[in-house]
Amino acid sequence: MSSSILVVGSVALDTVETPFARVEEVLGGAASYFSTAASLYSPVNLVAVVGTDFPQEYLEFFRRRAINLAGLQVRQGRTFRWFGRYHLDMNVRDTLDTQLGVYADFHAVIPPEYRDSSLLFLANIQPGLQQEVLDAMPRVRLSVLDSMDLWINTARPQLTEVMKRVDIMLMSEEELRLYTGCSSVVAGTRQLFSLGLKYVIVKQGSYGALLFGQDGSYFSAPAYPLEEVVDPTGAGDAFAGGLLGYLSTVEPEPDGHYRFEDLKRAVVHGNILGSFVCEDFSIRRLQQLTLADIAARYQTLVACSHFDPNWLPSRSSETSTAG
Ligand code: AMP
Repeated sequence: MSSSILVVGSVALDTVETPFARVEEVLGGAASYFSTAASLYSPVNLVAVVGTDFPQEYLEFFRRRAINLAGLQVRQGRTFRWFGRYHLDMNVRDTLDTQLGVYADFHAVIPPEYRDSSLLFLANIQPGLQQEVLDAMPRVRLSVLDSMDLWINTARPQLTEVMKRVDIMLMSEEELRLYTGCSSVVAGTRQLFSLGLKYVIVKQGSYGALLFGQDGSYFSAPAYPLEEVVDPTGAGDAFAGGLLGYLSTVEPEPDGHYRFEDLKRAVVHGNILGSFVCEDFSIRRLQQLTLADIAARYQTLVACSHFDPNWLPSRSSETSTAG
């Protein structure tokens, strides 16, 4: 049996430039990428706002997936817009413009039918808004938080308050350094655990992701080796969609905790969804994706990251034992 997932975050119109191509005002936003990915696994309850200029075709797309729009407000005004440009190293991008539009004075309203959602994803959005949703969902089983450099720089105290109340924090390696001031990832995560987080997942772009547990547990998940990256926008949000999507299909322990083995699998699902989203602009690649495509990439990652537990070739270990 799968559990439903609640997400709050941006639904946007993105303009994206890479060294090779450009698209204008396509469906974007952290919550759009997340919902499209996670709805491959379980129903998603979306909390967001769009303006009256938001294209009807995108609303229809959400409706065709198992994405509940009862918490999506349509308000007089302009939809959130974001303009980003990538470098030749597509792990690096510049934000050229952000227009909050209807998000500027948005307050989340959680429809009663969303209250039973077991999993909560606080996608990248103002920490104050993330706080409001946390307040409205006191009985959620697992809460996962994402953010970005903008909020670390401009709303750090509020972001810290949210971090104190969630189970898992997702951060890129650069964000972890910015927030903690530590050059070492391991030392940085230790600082985050002092806030009470159970797990920290460090996203490393095209290099994969690291899972750290408060109890010292650790897992390094490889990235899928993609030959061609068209547009990495939304990779972090699709990662979260794969992570929570997978966890929504898993029965936790009787005390509500997830087994570490399941968290490891969830991070691998995250990397897989992140890899697919990079193969086209917007959510296009995720639209045709099936669970069979995910399964095939899962097997590839198992094969390319598994290695022999014997640390020396058997001949040398015999020699060393004999000698
Ligand atoms: P990612 O590539 O995973 O960091 O996600 C990029 C998405 O986040 C884009 O689709 C943007 O529309 C959205 N985004 C960018 N800046 C912001 C912001 N300040 N608040 C909320 N969403 C944003």
